[in-house]
Amino acid sequence: MITLALSKGRIFDDSLPLLRAAGIEVLEDPEQSRKLIIGTSRPDVRVVLVRASDVPTYVQHGGADIGVAGLDVLLEGTAEQGGASAAGLYRVLDLKIARCRLSVAVRAGFDYAATVKQGSRLRVATKYTHLARQFFASKGVHVDLIKLYGSMELAPLTGLADAIVDLVSTGSTLKANHLVEVEKIMDISSRLVVNPAALKLKREPLRALIDAFETAVEARS
Ligand code: ATP
Ligand code: MG
Repeated sequence: MITLALSKGRIFDDSLPLLRAAGIEVLEDPEQSRKLIIGTSRPDVRVVLVRASDVPTYVQHGGADIGVAGLDVLLEGTAEQGGASAAGLYRVLDLKIARCRLSVAVRAGFDYAATVKQGSRLRVATKYTHLARQFFASKGVHVDLIKLYGSMELAPLTGLADAIVDLVSTGSTLKANHLVEVEKIMDISSRLVVNPAALKLKREPLRALIDAFETAVEARS
């Protein structure tokens, strides 16, 4: 049995066409069902649904053999561990799905450039405290980081922070909240991650699955 960890929403939705191209149909819609383990058209492949930020943990500790995780989640985890990439986690393939960018945004009218230039402290709210710390340190900008778990857009509007570091794709959420993207930190997409022990024990079927994903990604780009 091969266990694939996915998160509901964007990553699940964008993974479906790749799975389909690999000959795998997922048998249930996670938005309709409450099941956390879903079968597929392949009797030897099942999907487990976990929080996006839990995918690396599942794969690393063998709760899943393989998984799809955002580069944001993977790099934040690496930064949290002081730059060491997680043992027990091979990052094998850029799936080029759930593409977006990690950016700095401020309230419209806030002079980010002047604040940075003057060397004033910047209060930054984000879920990505480790990546934000690294980024601003590399620019020599002094920051006070405020850890949030969601609705980052609210922070500058309520005076909680001057800026946020968050994922942006179309920019419409920022716009709806009168925020302006002022700097891109990095491009983000989802990656296929694999447990190294599983790759040894289930080499043939996992290799075949990874190859099928790779072919599907290439066919789409
Ligand atoms: P939860 O909603 O359970 O708290 P989450 O917010 O991390 O978790 P999603 O919003 O579904 O879950 O994001 C999952 C992943 O999808 C992110 O880690 C990122 O890689 C990608 N993603 C997030 N926002 C966007 C976006 N606006 N456009 C494209 N991809 C995105
Ligand atoms: Mg979310």
